[in-house]
Amino acid sequence: MIYGVMAAMPEEIEGVIKLVENPVIKIIGGREYILGTIHNKKVVVVFSRWGKVAAASTVTTLIDVFCVNQIIFTGIAGAIHSDLKVGDIVVASSCVFHDMDTRPLHQRYVVPLLNKKYFDVFVADGLIEKMQSLFSTENILNVVGEEWTNRFNLTSVLVVSRTIASGDQFVNSHEARSDIKVNLSEVACVEMEGAAVAQICYEHEIPCTIVRTISDSADDSAAVDFEPFARHVASNYSIAIVSALLSD
Ligand code: SAH
Repeated sequence: MIYGVMAAMPEEIEGVIKLVENPVIKIIGGREYILGTIHNKKVVVVFSRWGKVAAASTVTTLIDVFCVNQIIFTGIAGAIHSDLKVGDIVVASSCVFHDMDTRPLHQRYVVPLLNKKYFDVFVADGLIEKMQSLFSTENILNVVGEEWTNRFNLTSVLVVSRTIASGDQFVNSHEARSDIKVNLSEVACVEMEGAAVAQICYEHEIPCTIVRTISDSADDSAAVDFEPFARHVASNYSIAIVSALLSD
């Protein structure tokens, strides 16, 4: 079993790369694929860059060239569901492209020829419980430390398993957010890669796990405090999530 581990931003993957033992680097398409082990599990870790095309081409390489059998994707996302706040966790149960629109040929959001609107995402038995205990009030200090726990008020992290919407757009306006909220009411959060990963994994018949940390509210305030959050919180969340997923 080989796991492909990927994230779209350097902050989200740098710490994970440090976990790789006996790393060997292979460069393809301008990306560094780092082969090795984490907790004795074979992994290929890669920084995929932002957006659907970058994610899809990276997953395809992981599957075709490195023969990975399962994908793990971690990263940040903007909240669509009003219950979610910065620091909460969404484990994808399915993904949808919020920018797919071939009307009047097909219904909005349906991927032509595949005729699918939602791509199911693998949620392993016990995964939600594992995430709940990782991000429990007792354990969060071990994940991000006191300073950042206090700064971002991370004391009651919510973990939900819901649909994630993806598109080539940083969603940061009331209009863009409410279009998703109204027309895709089951969506918990928005990002730029998950559905692309889920589609490629569906087509290759391999499971993927997608875990997102809420970094912003996908509205006019989305860019505020982004840098420190990505650097100090999202990075440590990714390390903790990948580590937990790869330990028995
Ligand atoms: N740190 C960056 C912002 C990154 S946003 C900066 O301010 O310069 C883009 C990345 O974060 C993408 O990989 C996407 O998947 C995710 N993301 C986080 N919030 C998002 C939002 N509101 N809309 C779309 N993508 C979002």
